[in-house]
Amino acid sequence: MKFSVLAGGVGGAKLVNGLSKWLSPDDMAVIVNTGDDFEFLGFYICPDIDTVMYNLAGINNPDTGYGIKDDTFNVIKNLEKLGTESWFHIGDSDIANQIKRTMQLNAGIPLSDIIEETSKALGNTHLIFPMSNEPVRTWVVTNEGESLPFQEYFVKRHFQPEVKQILFKGSEESKLPKKAHEFMESSQLVIICPSNPYVSIDPILSVPGVREILQNKTVVAVSPLIGGKTVKGPAAKIMSELGIEVSVTSIAKHYQPLIKGIVIDTQDRQETEQISHCGIIPYVTDILMPDTQAQERLAGEVINFSIQLHKESAA
Ligand code: GDP
Ligand code: CA
Repeated sequence: MKFSVLAGGVGGAKLVNGLSKWLSPDDMAVIVNTGDDFEFLGFYICPDIDTVMYNLAGINNPDTGYGIKDDTFNVIKNLEKLGTESWFHIGDSDIANQIKRTMQLNAGIPLSDIIEETSKALGNTHLIFPMSNEPVRTWVVTNEGESLPFQEYFVKRHFQPEVKQILFKGSEESKLPKKAHEFMESSQLVIICPSNPYVSIDPILSVPGVREILQNKTVVAVSPLIGGKTVKGPAAKIMSELGIEVSVTSIAKHYQPLIKGIVIDTQDRQETEQISHCGIIPYVTDILMPDTQAQERLAGEVINFSIQLHKESAA
């Protein structure tokens, strides 16, 4: 059976890596958020795509979750000395990827083709697609009335401003790249990674046509919350700022009516009944992925649970 996997950065990449150990490149492709993309030092940077790509290639920095393992930071340090903006801490090897991508984009090559080529050059066999080749930009409107491009909110301001609204500028004019569209259409199952629902998955769902495709698939989400907390990043903070109860039930409801099932942590097992009441089937297990072994174990359970739901809905 064929799986389309929706992912953001760090949380998404962990599960993607686990899934890739069970599913062949014919049976799995990843559609990645590009709402975080931005220009820095004249380079076109795709933080979430790179995180997924580096994780699959096994060259990710395991301490941060993003960037390249054992990278050096000479370029950024020297730029800092020269008085250039350096708030986005990017390594030297990582910059090589940004140079290549920016050169190819300037030559008119679509982002999806560039990613396919780069990912292959890094040794990856599973396809990774940007959610669209057209730019979609996530903006955060704060309680103070400021409008911030996503990376300014996330990296420069360490997601401290209170979020009032999240916008995906340009999404109306975006579309899935052709190959991503074909892969999604032909898959029976869709896995929504434990990425931030509001700023990593929602941008993908905002691309016209994506929700419609999901309507005909067996969709399973994995919770990014464990025991009412995020493992990393602002998901829980954003939820409370938007007036949403911080719970796995809220995550399940957020993905209604798209998902058939949700995978939650043993710490949240008291919410299974509430989730079932929403018409969503919960599956309880240990969903923290501190290492590749845990990624693989969870991925195997997610695959089995999804196939089981698919068979039940087809019966
Ligand atoms: P970003 O784009 O780098 O911020 O990454 P994502 O949106 O893909 O992932 C961020 C989310 O991943 C956060 O809400 C985390 O709680 C979640 N996350 C990170 N590590 C884990 C993990 O090991 N297990 C689960 N279930 N969620 C995780
Ligand atoms: Ca991201």
